Amino acid sequence: MMHKIFLWLLVSIHSAACSADALQIVVLDVGEGQAILLKRENRGILIDTGHAGTARSLLDKLDQYRVTQLDHLMFTHLHPDHASGYFRIREAFPTAYIHDNGDPAALVSPIDMVRWTADALLADPNRQAIAVRERLDWMGVKIMPVWPERLEGTHLNRNSLVLLIEYASANALVMGDVDIEVERQLTNGKSLPKNIELLVAGHHGSRHSSHRPFLQAVNPEVCVISVNSGNVRGYPDASTVQRLKDNCSRLYRTDRYGDIRLTWQTGEVMIDKKQSAE
Ligand SMILES: [Zn+2]
Repeated sequence: MMHKIFLWLLVSIHSAACSADALQIVVLDVGEGQAILLKRENRGILIDTGHAGTARSLLDKLDQYRVTQLDHLMFTHLHPDHASGYFRIREAFPTAYIHDNGDPAALVSPIDMVRWTADALLADPNRQAIAVRERLDWMGVKIMPVWPERLEGTHLNRNSLVLLIEYASANALVMGDVDIEVERQLTNGKSLPKNIELLVAGHHGSRHSSHRPFLQAVNPEVCVISVNSGNVRGYPDASTVQRLKDNCSRLYRTDRYGDIRLTWQTGEVMIDKKQSAE
C-alpha cells in the first residue's frame, strides 16, 4: 500500500509541535463512547462528544491540545455515548456550528437523553443537518457524509453518519455505530476509497460491525476501536478484534492506549515505534 501522508501515532499529549500544514486527528479516550478531534493550528472540529459524564474531562483535553476555537461540532448520531456531551461543550463553545444527521426518530426516542439532545439541537440557531453529497470544507480538510443515503426507521445506529475525511491525499473513515448491513451497502456502492489511512471502527468493535468484505474493500492502514475497559455490552467482540487484526496494518484501542493521536503531513506514513499495536 502506498502512503502519501506522514503519520505519527502517539499516546502522549505532550509530543513535539507539528508543522503548520499538519492535520492532527485524535481519537480521544472518553471511556464509554466516542469523540474524535480534528485539529489544525489552534482550531478544531469535534466529531461526537462522548457522554455527559466525561464532558468536563473532554474540555480539559481540548485545553491540553490547545484548541482555543472549536469551529464545528458534528454528531454521527444522538445516542448518549456520542452526543450527550453536547450541553457542556455547547456552553464552552457557543459559536461552533453544529451538524448532525437530522434523524427525526431521535425526537421521539424512548431514551430520554436522546430526546433531550434532539430537542436542544432543534432549538440551536447554529445547527444544520448534513447529508450525503454535502461537504464540509475546513482549512483544507474535506469532510463528507457517505451514509445514510436516506433516513429510515427508528434504528438510530443504522442512520449514523459515516464520515469520509480527506486531507493531503489521505483518507479516514469514521463509521459511527453502523452495522454490517450498512457496511455491505457501502461496500457495494461507489463512495468508498480503495485505501484508507485511518478507520475508526464501527460501533465500538461490536460483533455486528467491521465485517471482512468491508475491511478488504477499504484496506485500512491504522484501525482504532473507541471503547472503555470492562464495557458492559462486551465490546469489543473478540471475533471483530481478530478481523481487524487480520485486515489492518495496525490496530489500537482507546481502552488500552488512551488517546490515539495521528499527525498527517505530506510525505510517507510513519508510526512511532514506541507505540505497540494489538
Ligand atoms: Zn456508540
